[in-house]
Amino acid sequence: MPVTPEDFYASVLLAADEERRLPLPEQAMWEIFPFELAGLVVKPLDPLTLPEPPRGGEGGRDCSRCARRLERVVWSDERWTLSAWPEPLGLPFGAILEPKAHLDLGDLDDQHAAELGQLIVSIERAARLLSGVARVHVNKWGDGGAHLHVAFLGRPAGMLQLRGSCLPLWDEMLPRVPAPAADSALRSVAAALASRGGRQHP
Ligand SMILES: [Zn+2]
Repeated sequence: MPVTPEDFYASVLLAADEERRLPLPEQAMWEIFPFELAGLVVKPLDPLTLPEPPRGGEGGRDCSRCARRLERVVWSDERWTLSAWPEPLGLPFGAILEPKAHLDLGDLDDQHAAELGQLIVSIERAARLLSGVARVHVNKWGDGGAHLHVAFLGRPAGMLQLRGSCLPLWDEMLPRVPAPAADSALRSVAAALASRGGRQHP
């Protein structure tokens, strides 16, 4: 029998203290965890929010992706765009892959799904060849917007402390990469994509 949201939340509360704070995660002991333990406190759990409010692009809310169309786009083909990150990053590479049509991951038809797989591999391969990039992490969250956006983040070479799932936290703390360097990395990946299909945007 499926667990209801209320049952799940109640079971989580049992693990929290009287202030509804969960214990620190095991990740806090990892060497890649960005913060020292002294003074680190987990936020109290919020109450359940049900039904959840609509994300951008659903329930009558505007879709910011559909609104900006080709803004920030560095490569596109008939059905997909690769765009620069909305704001400057602290990482040597960052980009966002989106379908042109207003679709979330589970909405993709077989053609979109097959192309998504090929594009992820091509983007990862091209970004990993960039100078200064050791690894490319691929992420799909989508809690803010209903229009699928797959995020690519390049982990700086040699900075082993930035390995793994804490990379987005580290990114927020690093100094911003100057625009010419960020742009050059993005253009290089766009050119690699264009060599197999679609077109690079100026
Ligand atoms: Zn949209």
